[in-house]
Amino acid sequence: MKIESRLAQIGSQKEPVTGAVSFPVYQATAFRHPKLGESTGFDYSRTKNPTRAVLEAAAAELESGDAGFACSSGMAALQTIFGLFGQGDHLLVSLDLYGGTYRLLEKIMTRFGVTASYVDTNDIDGLEALRLPNTKAILIETPTNPLMMITDVERVSAWAKSKGLLVIVDNTLLTPFFQRPIELGADIVVHSATKYLGGHNDVLAGLIVTKGKELSEQMFFLHNSMGAVLGPQDSWLLMRGMKTLALRMERHQYNATRIADFLLEHPAVEEVYYPALPHHPGHDVQNRQSSGNTGIFSFRLKDARYVEPILRHIKLIAFAESLGGVESLMTYPAVQTHADIPEEIRRQIGVDDRLLRFSVGIEHADDLIEDLAGALEAAQREIGE
Ligand SMILES: *Cc1c(COP(=O)(O)O)cnc(C)c1O
Repeated sequence: MKIESRLAQIGSQKEPVTGAVSFPVYQATAFRHPKLGESTGFDYSRTKNPTRAVLEAAAAELESGDAGFACSSGMAALQTIFGLFGQGDHLLVSLDLYGGTYRLLEKIMTRFGVTASYVDTNDIDGLEALRLPNTKAILIETPTNPLMMITDVERVSAWAKSKGLLVIVDNTLLTPFFQRPIELGADIVVHSATKYLGGHNDVLAGLIVTKGKELSEQMFFLHNSMGAVLGPQDSWLLMRGMKTLALRMERHQYNATRIADFLLEHPAVEEVYYPALPHHPGHDVQNRQSSGNTGIFSFRLKDARYVEPILRHIKLIAFAESLGGVESLMTYPAVQTHADIPEEIRRQIGVDDRLLRFSVGIEHADDLIEDLAGALEAAQREIGE
């Protein structure tokens, strides 16, 4: 069955007693046992909850994995995955990384003796140069946020496998609708489901999908033992959002492409970082490994003085952190999402004071272009050009 149909049907044929088309929220934390040594399959909700289980099965199936785990946030999902590692372990990690993941690794995991090196994960020579005898895994974001760097997951997974490394891919920006890293060789996929999967800026959630029996069992143990699980209400809300993922992603992609084209031609804009654009360095790999493009891109202004008036003059587009929702949001990465990344690394990857990130919503593209054009014009007027 095609993915659009599988998404729309999440949880819809799973409740045999009443036939409820929307799967119920099982708020219970405890489940009655029929007798000694017997269980309905549910004992205690941290271990397994019926509503969460439907979501987890759907996530595993959509990402072509063997098991899914729903967590209380994307960071909770990453923390659960990092539970695989301990004292003396080393990770190779995408250089242009989500700021919160960087903070978790540098400020917390280091205290448990887990260290990381940050590298362009598409550069095998660079990876090989930083690989240590105790390197256990590679964590890839593709595209990265905010600079939309692309990693060839198939090529890098093949290299990682040959070195015995686990491959973890953060698939938040593309979702399984556009890209399925496990099919390309990854062992673990992680999502901030707060973003496109939920899609409405109204539920905080994370998902993990694992490939392979042993890894799935290990992750089940960590998920249950660490306890950062998603509650049944939020599991339901996330499934509700995921039903419309296909429609939303297509519109996000269409709008982002139109607006990226508009900005590329604008005299106040120096560069647009969007893999759908033919001149983007990751364009061909992106087209090969994914069936579409995300709704996020970044653009660099010609003058840092444009930033303040643009953020003041946008009306329809909100100046806010986060991404992937139906509402358009604009972020200033250097002072918001990437503030925890040292300036030296920020400069190396190009997150500077002229860079804005745009999470394009599903409003009409004409209205978004009008809002942006007005704000750019006002900014140019104010700084006197
Ligand atoms: C937002 C985000 C996270 C963290 O997820 P939360 O749900 O905010 O905890 C991790 N990775 C990426 C790529 C993100 O965009």
